[in-house]
Amino acid sequence: MEEVGTGLLDRLDAMQRVAASAPGGPLLIVAGPGTGKTRTLTHRIAYLCAELNVFPEHCLAITFTRRAAEELQVRLDGLLGPVAEDITVATFHSLGLAILREHPAAAGLPADFRIADDTERTAARAEAGEDEATYVKLLRGQDLVDLDELVTLPVRVLRDDPELVRQYRDRWRWIFVDEYQDVDAVQYELLRLLAPPDGNLCAIGDPDQAIYSFRGADVAYFLRFSQDFADARLVRLTRNYRSSAPILAASVQAIAPTSLVPGRRLDPARLDLEAPLVGRYPAASVADEANFVVRTVDDLVGGLSHRSLDSGRIDGRNSTVSFSDIAVLYRTDAQAAPIVDALVRAGVPVQKRSHNRLRDRPGVAVIARELRHADGLGGSLAARVRLAGQVLAERFATPTLDAPGGIGPEEIRNAVELLTPLAQRCGDDLPLFLSQLATGAEVDALDPRAEAVTLLTLHAAKGLEFPVVFLVGCEDGLLPLRFPGRPPTEDDVAEERRLFFVGLTRAQDRLYLSHVARRVRHGQERECAPTPFLAPIDAGLFERFGDAEPRRPKDRQLRLL
Ligand code: ATP
Ligand code: MG
Repeated sequence: MEEVGTGLLDRLDAMQRVAASAPGGPLLIVAGPGTGKTRTLTHRIAYLCAELNVFPEHCLAITFTRRAAEELQVRLDGLLGPVAEDITVATFHSLGLAILREHPAAAGLPADFRIADDTERTAARAEAGEDEATYVKLLRGQDLVDLDELVTLPVRVLRDDPELVRQYRDRWRWIFVDEYQDVDAVQYELLRLLAPPDGNLCAIGDPDQAIYSFRGADVAYFLRFSQDFADARLVRLTRNYRSSAPILAASVQAIAPTSLVPGRRLDPARLDLEAPLVGRYPAASVADEANFVVRTVDDLVGGLSHRSLDSGRIDGRNSTVSFSDIAVLYRTDAQAAPIVDALVRAGVPVQKRSHNRLRDRPGVAVIARELRHADGLGGSLAARVRLAGQVLAERFATPTLDAPGGIGPEEIRNAVELLTPLAQRCGDDLPLFLSQLATGAEVDALDPRAEAVTLLTLHAAKGLEFPVVFLVGCEDGLLPLRFPGRPPTEDDVAEERRLFFVGLTRAQDRLYLSHVARRVRHGQERECAPTPFLAPIDAGLFERFGDAEPRRPKDRQLRLL
């Protein structure tokens, strides 16, 4: 114990240390981007366990995505060693599932209930129409629960059973929630049932990075934490370790008009005087913007045409930049194609990251079902996934089995490939594999070590950092995103500004913002103005590239299909 504990907090700065070593009771850590939230959270848990004799099995750490949960677990393992395995690290969905597995009868479920897969959900939806009650009945008839019920059902069970609440509160005496700004109403109610008003609940997050209200998240729960949890202690982290001073200044100015954090401050830990300004490129067209990205990547990495393919890192002019240091971020997936094309044409390796759930991929549902029904398949789970894929492909080909709409051998092959890493992580545990699949395991082709430029949406970029960031399409209409016939509300615009803030704050050393003068959206080419979110940023923080004066063909309204 002692050896693990020694110097645990030495790797934190003074405020991070205050947060990590705060006494029990409600604790809210308001921390901006790059201030070391995950670092602080994991060190707090480790410190409590290693130095204050808190039992790991009394700790429950909750995050929102499976990837984030896995990362938390890895970091805790690193800090605490094997005892970290006794900490419950969960997503809200997997936590709800665990409660339902322990008390199925209280929720009116059989012990062997399952989570409906997409085919089963679609079938029940089709039959039930708009009638939500009928929908649930149809699922129950097959011993199924809907994914959304994984949180609502435990809430209903706990609401009616104070004794059960007492048992859970006794088990998880220390609760930690990361990315707390993304909590929604039901998750919040679950938290309030699990943590008493004066309980050891530690919430950490940044209201200015709340970007999931379209999924029901409500930053109001963050803002009223201190009212709901009596005498909550508040710790702010304001020292940013990620970004250069110009990037940080631009970010802070960009969020200022609608910041949700009173007196928002972010102090640069990095004071490198040589840091480049924020690049700004007004492009004439989408093609011009893509070429700007290619040219700049070329400059940074040091001459694509005579680069040696097998050298991992190439010295640029001032710094050493490799392809894996570079990310291109955009608001909508549709923006990726022209940039990918231009990069690929120039010989730049790229990897695109999607934020899709595995279970939404064609082919995945049928393989999962095959696995469930064919217990006889031997070998490791990964081998069984492969075998199930082969069996299905064969049966579709000789049609002893009708392939569900649009699923052919190609989809099955892809699905096997996508499922293999998850199967490997789950070893031989089929129920674990199926529940992870159902609770939102993500397609994650991103390899942080791959020698490739990463392309991803602003939403998917949350929590990540890159030495070089391009934020393309900084235009009114894309940021904030506008849909035809539905003017955005003030709240929508504020959320889009937060998304812009998330994008800017991913950058460590170099940030480039580009906008195009004309773009095709919704089938029509339109003139575009730069995003109004650029306006609050001091012009002195920008270095302007190019002088592409948009050529404006008069009265040309190009209609495309
Ligand atoms: P975001 O809001 O974007 O998710 P975050 O608050 O989670 O950001 P981290 O990603 O944990 O921030 O940390 C940002 C960077 O700062 C990381 O590279 C991390 O290693 C570094 N960092 C954090 N705290 C310290 C510290 N005390 N000393 C040195 N580096 C630190
Ligand atoms: Mg983070």
